[in-house]
Amino acid sequence: MKKKLLSLAILPLLAACVSTTGPAPAPTKPPVTKPQPVVTRSAQSGLAAFARVSRRVEPVAERSCRQIHKNANPKFCDFVIKVNKDPRQPANAYQSIGQDGRPVITFNINMIRSIQNDHEIAFILGHEAGHQIAKHLGKTRQNQVAGAVLGGLLAAALGADMQSGADLGGLVGARSYSKGFELQADRIGTHIASRAGYNPVIGARSFNRTQGSNAFLSTHPPSQDRINTVNQTAARIRAAKAAGQGTPPITW
Ligand SMILES: [Zn+2]
Repeated sequence: MKKKLLSLAILPLLAACVSTTGPAPAPTKPPVTKPQPVVTRSAQSGLAAFARVSRRVEPVAERSCRQIHKNANPKFCDFVIKVNKDPRQPANAYQSIGQDGRPVITFNINMIRSIQNDHEIAFILGHEAGHQIAKHLGKTRQNQVAGAVLGGLLAAALGADMQSGADLGGLVGARSYSKGFELQADRIGTHIASRAGYNPVIGARSFNRTQGSNAFLSTHPPSQDRINTVNQTAARIRAAKAAGQGTPPITW
């Protein structure tokens, strides 16, 4: 029983968008080749770009969030943007909730160094804000618990081991929801980047780059699905503006 509880407790780590927090499970064998971080610019130039884009995108993300969550706790849309400067981490960006209850968007230094232009930074910031706006963190945890319980019941009914059943159920629950959530975050990110004056279609081109040592790319859906989602959303925004309807509401 104790073992089962422990296994449930680690499941949330598997589902987070691209979480790098929490202890990593000890590998049984050392990896043969260690992926090296892909960097294309100096930390100084990356950090300057990141600061410049964050200043423009954060107020837009906050305002867009408040338009949707009018009655939420004021903290819900009060984004904190952070940089993790640990150079050993593979390129990554993720959203979490801080101890004070505010949503935190973290980019690590290799993510910042691998980004090629301001549109990419704006789009990824918008994507991470989108996970908060669509409440994905809480929903993913609910799905995992439901999946794990269901998997355990199924295993029991089949006379199989409860433990492996629960593990399987939790993984299936997490995996089947995460791709849909990622595409939802891409739709919201497209709106936010566009509202902040960036081009989300250019921003999404980073998906075409190699995924090997990039945790953000390798934990997200295939590039083409994401590029199509961004292109379609951006086309709808342009069409609404061209028709004189102004900025369309954010939907996902
Ligand atoms: Zn994501």
